Amino acid sequence: MLNSLRSIVQEVNSARDLSSALGIIVRRVKAVMKTEVCSTYLRDGTGQYVLMATDGLNPAAVGNVSLAAGEGLVGHVAQREEPINLELATAHPKYQYFEATGEEKFSSFLGVPIIHHREVLGVLVIQQTERRRFDEGEEAFLVTMSAQLAGVIAHAEATGVLERMGQHAHEAKFKGVAGSPGVAIGKAVVISPVADLRGVPYQTCDNVDLELDFFHECLAKARKDVKNLGKQLETRLNQQERALFDAYLAMLDDASLGSEVTERISKGVSAAYAWSEVILEHERNFSSMNDAYLRERAADVRDLGRRVLAYLQESAQHCRVFPENTILVGEELTASMLGEVPKERLSGLVSVQGSSNSHVAILARAMGLPTVMGAVDLPFTQIEGREVIVDGYRGSIYSDPGATLRKHYERICDEEREIVRGLEALKELPCETLDKHRVPLWVNTGLMADVVRSLERGAEGVGLYRTEIPFLLRDRFPSEEEQRLIYREQLEAFAPHTVTMRTLDVGGDKSLSYFPIEEENPFLGWRGIRVTLDHPEIFLAQVRAMLKASEGLNNMRIMLPMVASVSELEAAKSLIYRAFHELLEEGFQIELPPIGVMIEVPAAVYQARELAARSDFLSVGSNDLTQYLLAVDRNNPQVADLYQAYHPAVLRALHQVVRDGHSQGASVGICGELAGDPAAAVLLMAMGYDVLSMNATNLPKVKKVIRNITLQQAEDLLDEVMHQEDADSVNRCLERVLEREGMLRFTGWPSGGESAVH
Ligand code: PEP
Ligand code: MG
Repeated sequence: MLNSLRSIVQEVNSARDLSSALGIIVRRVKAVMKTEVCSTYLRDGTGQYVLMATDGLNPAAVGNVSLAAGEGLVGHVAQREEPINLELATAHPKYQYFEATGEEKFSSFLGVPIIHHREVLGVLVIQQTERRRFDEGEEAFLVTMSAQLAGVIAHAEATGVLERMGQHAHEAKFKGVAGSPGVAIGKAVVISPVADLRGVPYQTCDNVDLELDFFHECLAKARKDVKNLGKQLETRLNQQERALFDAYLAMLDDASLGSEVTERISKGVSAAYAWSEVILEHERNFSSMNDAYLRERAADVRDLGRRVLAYLQESAQHCRVFPENTILVGEELTASMLGEVPKERLSGLVSVQGSSNSHVAILARAMGLPTVMGAVDLPFTQIEGREVIVDGYRGSIYSDPGATLRKHYERICDEEREIVRGLEALKELPCETLDKHRVPLWVNTGLMADVVRSLERGAEGVGLYRTEIPFLLRDRFPSEEEQRLIYREQLEAFAPHTVTMRTLDVGGDKSLSYFPIEEENPFLGWRGIRVTLDHPEIFLAQVRAMLKASEGLNNMRIMLPMVASVSELEAAKSLIYRAFHELLEEGFQIELPPIGVMIEVPAAVYQARELAARSDFLSVGSNDLTQYLLAVDRNNPQVADLYQAYHPAVLRALHQVVRDGHSQGASVGICGELAGDPAAAVLLMAMGYDVLSMNATNLPKVKKVIRNITLQQAEDLLDEVMHQEDADSVNRCLERVLEREGMLRFTGWPSGGESAVH
């Protein structure tokens, strides 16, 4: 059974579109379960469950039979969200007869809901003439099948939405994770690594004859390559291997794969897309063969496919034109891909993989580019050239937006521009409340690009310099001297303001290509201070570089990530002292910098007092602290809704840390994303945080809100918020107060609320 399950899911997964996926499901499930009927019903835009595929009922009924939730047996399954297993379907009060289906002869009925992310997408049904109840094993199998297929169907449905839009532009929404705040409206440009068969964007061609000539040219070039390769290897190859080269050449023949491709190009599809489709189809066919030798030929097809595709993309790559307001879309965007688009044309980013902590998201925040990450259901190759809206606040993407939605987002963009213009004037003003309570606003940095933006926006210091970023951009550990130069640049740029340098924080989702850490559970594994304490040579080189860089400037603080116990702090401190004394002996004129601890794990919250007593400052890393308190992976789009920064447990922890830190005379700051949320910043100020450190983009908004409120008002709000029992009520509470004060527009929560667009 497990094998059948796996092979059905695999086959469905590689289906070209929703209708072939559904066709595979009904055919294979019917065969495996040895029944006479298998059908799928899917919910349409109006909430009706429509018969979408059947093997056993009258095929003419497909698309013509539909039921509302609660209507008929299918609607009943959907409404109850659980299986219904009947020996005699006609005897059930909910039974409804549809003449078109020809189902009257079937007595037994088993229907199970198809549920994805709590939503009933449809119902999977099997039926049989024989009057019997399907046994427990059969029921369990169908439930398992349906649970596995739900994600695949959701994805295929999303793809289908876009394909249907080929004829009529139709607004569609895709969900991801907020990567960088802001809204961008523009044209999607799909970017993928060269010769990536699965990443070729769907494009049409204007001139079929030219496209055909171009395709034949590329095919000929690949044929020549293979011939040359064969010749070079001739003396070393045996008979069988030479035959393989001949087989390759035959495949590249105009009459073979070539003819299938030319047929598609003749219908107006671009050569690259047509070629990738044909190759992927053949690769799938070979991979599903039973014979091991033939199965291996899938790799040959793929190899050939890549060779030709590289030629097809080569010239296209050179003359690629990026439109104004390019929204760059890719399966896994990288920093170098961003570099391909002229800066003034790049408006927003969408990445299918990754999270708000991916390097590219950090870069996007530094550059102020609205970004959505982890858009796993986005059929990204189909979106090329379409108009899209990137909502980097909520993590949503809309393709082909209708006039109402477009207007709604244009208004948000206008407001944003107006806000930014208005906020420029704030640059020189202090961040203080109406009753003159000062709150220093610092920035989080990692690249030199951040420095310029930060200074432009009036940052008063750096609360977190992520030293892993220069490490991530290399193919080996940077030497002590290389590090010294990088750190010196940061310290000089901000002097005399303070720069808080965090020691290397790798592991978790941040892995260095040249120092791979592979673990089952990386967030609970070897990361942050755990890695560097196990590698004192790496830690010492970094600390020495930092100390040397600070010579004569004395504006540096050192901060330790992921500390979970006092002994880790003690061990790190003794290494820092060692490096400091060595450097003094070597003749450097340096001062011992303040040493601080990040509060990122629950254990550190409960030991904030002890940690504060042994350090100069605490800084809360609310990104990690939230994930560990709520047991929600900060990178996983599947549980993104549960990652609630306003969860009362998080707020209580934040409050406790500041009280405990202050009781020991330590300064307490926060450098997680929460500090850059204007509403949260008000609460953090009221809790008594000494420093708020955030991305440069949000800094002026936070300043605006704080300058328009009194400390007393903030404390009253905090008091009210701390009595709430869940994140939603906290949210409502904040929204109400900020709206009353006319500050809602600075929060980044588009006015009009969720209901206006969703
Ligand atoms: C945090 O965890 O809040 C933090 C600032 O560190 P990072 O996001 O780099 O893990
Ligand atoms: Mg962290």
